[in-house]
Formats: sequence, structure tokens, C-alpha cells
Amino acid sequence: MNESFRIRAEMKELYTLDDIDLNFRRMLSEKVGGESLLNCIQCGICSSGCTVSEYVDMQPHRMIASCLLGLKNLVLKSNAVWICSLCNKCTERCPKHVEYSFLLAILRNLSVEQGIIPEGYIPILRNINNTGFAIPLSGASVDRRREKMGIPAMPSPNTEQIKKLIQLTGIDNLLETEEKKEDE
Ligand code: SF4
Ligand code: SF4
Repeated sequence: MNESFRIRAEMKELYTLDDIDLNFRRMLSEKVGGESLLNCIQCGICSSGCTVSEYVDMQPHRMIASCLLGLKNLVLKSNAVWICSLCNKCTERCPKHVEYSFLLAILRNLSVEQGIIPEGYIPILRNINNTGFAIPLSGASVDRRREKMGIPAMPSPNTEQIKKLIQLTGIDNLLETEEKKEDE
């Protein structure tokens, strides 16, 4: 198998210049932690020890290569953006100190801005928006248990401030779009 065919087989499809966002690499590298992306030498050590490697459609070193090539749509559609557990193992093992976990955080934010988010996160976001908790607590039983253990009652989260943060990040638009979809 010659080299060009091998690359084609691994990436499943070929990409043209139209698929490349020439600003993507620069934009990522200007964000906190993103600058380390430029140090990558594609050694693959990150992927060889990745905790979730068997579940992702793109291994960490391939993800980085795709970012460096400007394949923005391919990267943002990859399940690796969300499946990564942010365990930091790849970052600890990287000989070039590439901060992959930081990069993933940047990519998650970009995905949300574009309305790309796994379905399972929507109810969690809704809970945070409405109650301030990712998983709402059943008040009375929690308070009873805390009282029994001599722990003070849980302070109520400031939902107004949380809603404001959700608006600032644009997540409220995402929730609205999802609600409309559910009503259709
Ligand atoms: S271990 Fe570091 S240098 Fe090697 S491919 Fe992964 S990110 Fe790049
Ligand atoms: S931080 Fe993510 S990519 Fe890196 S080893 Fe952990 S699960 Fe894998």
C-alpha cells in the first residue's frame, strides 16, 4: 500500500482546500493553552496511552494534526472533543509539553458556540440553568442527612448569577434552539 493510499484509507475521505480554515490554527494557538499545540512533533505518545482511545473516532495526535491543518469542521464533529475525560495523561506523557486538555476545553467552547453538543448534555445544562445544580438535589432528605451529620444546610446557589453566566456564554440560545426542536 503506497503512502497516499494509506492516508486516504485512515482518514476515510480526501480533503480539499475548501475544507481548510486557514485561520483555525492561529485562532487556537492564541488562546490560553492553545499555543503549545504548535510544539507537537506527531510522535503519537499521547495516543498510545490515552484512557479513552478505543472509544474516540480520532486519536489525540490525529486531532492535533487536524487542528494544525485547519480541518475545523472535521475536528468539531469528532466525538473525541466530548469523550475525552480530561484525565491529563496525554499532557503528562507529552515530550513537547502540548497541553491537550486545554486544547479540548477550547474545542468544546467552540463547539458550543456553533451549537454542536452531545444530546446528553442538554438536560444537564437545563438543570444548571434552572436550579444551579447539574443534578438537582432532593432537598429534604439531603438537609436531614446533613443535619444528622452536624453539617450546616446547603447554601442555595445564586440562580440569577448562573443564568447571567449562561447568557454570556451563549448557552441560553442553544437551550432555546433545543426546546424549539423538541416542540416541533
Ligand atoms: S505526545 Fe505530544 S508531541 Fe507527541 S503527538 Fe502527542 S501532543 Fe504531539
Ligand atoms: S486527557 Fe483525554 S485525550 Fe488525554 S489521555 Fe486523557 S482521555 Fe485521552
